[in-house]
Amino acid sequence: MRDLSGSARCGAAVKANGYGTGADRVAPRLAREGCRDFFVADANEGAALRPLLPDARIYVLNGVFEGSFAQTLAHDLIPIINSPEQAAFWCANADGRAYALHIDTGMNRMGLMPEQAAAHSQSSAPPPCLVMSHFACADDPGHPLNARQIKLFDSIRSCFPGIEASLANSGGIFLGAAVHHDLTRPGIALYGGEPVSDMPNRMRTVVTAQSRVLVIRSAKTGESVSYGAAYNCTRDSRIAVCGVGYADGFHRSASGAGVPLRSAVPQGAYGAINGVRVPVVGKITMDLTMFDVTDLPEDAVNTGDWIELLGPTINVEEAARAAGTISYELLTSLGRRHARSYVA
Ligand SMILES: *Cc1c(COP(=O)(O)O)cnc(C)c1O
Repeated sequence: MRDLSGSARCGAAVKANGYGTGADRVAPRLAREGCRDFFVADANEGAALRPLLPDARIYVLNGVFEGSFAQTLAHDLIPIINSPEQAAFWCANADGRAYALHIDTGMNRMGLMPEQAAAHSQSSAPPPCLVMSHFACADDPGHPLNARQIKLFDSIRSCFPGIEASLANSGGIFLGAAVHHDLTRPGIALYGGEPVSDMPNRMRTVVTAQSRVLVIRSAKTGESVSYGAAYNCTRDSRIAVCGVGYADGFHRSASGAGVPLRSAVPQGAYGAINGVRVPVVGKITMDLTMFDVTDLPEDAVNTGDWIELLGPTINVEEAARAAGTISYELLTSLGRRHARSYVA
């Protein structure tokens, strides 16, 4: 991401606990790579990171309000001002401290509308240290809204001469040098997600999730597996019962049968045992999931073995699709019960 950002500084979105991967580990690792600009959602997240990132700029995407003001000052956070009300509050109370200004160029989510930003630039308010906007469709490079947002951002920037600008998230970085400006803000790509939809994932695997095989049992043709008897064995089967479930972020919607998503997307999630893919059968339960290992040689899987749920064989994007969601949601909902180990 740094190389692709060209002459722009490459920042990092580490909100939502580093997309679920552990901001306390990820942010210092990125800082060692030279990252100095970090984006968190709220002041609590910023306060937690400040001791780990003493020299970094930590921007707070949600901005600032009365309840977070003291924390913002205490931890030297840079609020990203998102509305005229936030602008008025900060400028009246913050004694000229640095802030960034978010301008909404077409997402109708956060940021001042362009005319509000123009008015702000004409007011007596001290100038922001950064102006930014956010793409609605960066994952779809051909979407016409991208070009409209780029044009609008370029035109509103003329109200803020000499002030740093930032537009590109992960997908935006791939839209080319014209959108890199001074600072990029990748998130998902840093965590191994593919920033552009409907293409094979180019990012290296970052997160591997595994579960233990607890029990291996035999089920006869016609017998059912798991709650609701939604899956019926079409052959004599060997079933590996594994210690992971929806309480661990292995979403119930990814069940092999018996959930609404299966009428639209026929196949549920897969696991992998030594690189061999095996399907989830029946409903995923809170703490346990069953995989059909009938096709594996009998000695290829034993109790205590690990099954990969996410990683080099089961790509995070594939796993997300099986659950009817996106890699962002899959990663941010990784369960708290997993033992975590960091290898880089
Ligand atoms: C989350 C977020 C990012 C990072 O987006 P990715 O698509 O994960 O790269 C960048 N900017 C803003 C404003 C965000 O909310």
